[in-house]
Amino acid sequence: MGFFKLIHKGNGEGLKRLFIGGVHGKEGLTTIKALKEITEKDVPDGCLVMYNCDESKYISTLNPLYYQSEAGKAVLYLIDHYKPDMYIELHCYKRENFDSLTDLDRKKKIGVPPLIELEEGVLIGSISPRIRTTRFTKKDICITLEIPCSPSPESMEVYVNFLKVLAGAQSREDLERKATEIYLEQVETSKRYAHIIFGDYPPF
Ligand SMILES: [Zn+2]
Repeated sequence: MGFFKLIHKGNGEGLKRLFIGGVHGKEGLTTIKALKEITEKDVPDGCLVMYNCDESKYISTLNPLYYQSEAGKAVLYLIDHYKPDMYIELHCYKRENFDSLTDLDRKKKIGVPPLIELEEGVLIGSISPRIRTTRFTKKDICITLEIPCSPSPESMEVYVNFLKVLAGAQSREDLERKATEIYLEQVETSKRYAHIIFGDYPPF
C-alpha cells in the first residue's frame, strides 16, 4: 500500500483534486518527497487526495498495457472512485531523457506533444491521451509534472511550489490566472499543444 493522504476543507464544496505520484518504476521514491510538502493550508476548499504508488515495473503510460498492470489499475481505480475535477500525475525522469521529452518533434515521433520546461528542469505536459479522453471531461484539469529523479533542491522547490499553485487553485480560470502570473510563456505554449491533442479542448 502506497502513501495516502486526504485533505478535506470546508463544507465539501469546491474542486476535487487527485494527485498521484510514482505511477511506474522507481519514480515514487522522488515524488513522495514532493507530496509530503503539501499540507492542509495549501488547499482552500473542496478536497485533495494524494497517493504515491509503491515501486512497480516501468511501463510507459502511453502503452495500453500499462492500464492492465497492477499500478495502472490502481490509478484507474482512484480516478473512477474520486472522479476528480483536477488530476495531477507526478513523474520523475532521467536527465539523459530531457531532450527527447522536450523534443519539438515529439508529436511526429511518438504521437504526443513535447513537455514544456517551467524552470530548473521541471516539466509540464498533458497526461496520457488514453485516460485524458476517456476518464475526464473537457473542463477537467489534467496535468503531468516531471522533475529530474534525485533532483537538486532548486528543482524540488520549483516542483513543490507549482504543486501548491495547483492545490490552491479554485477553478480552471483561477489556475490559469495564477499560472500565467508566473509562467506566461509556458501557459501559452501548453494551450497550443492542448489544442493539437484535443482540438477544441481547453488548456491542460
Ligand atoms: Zn514517469
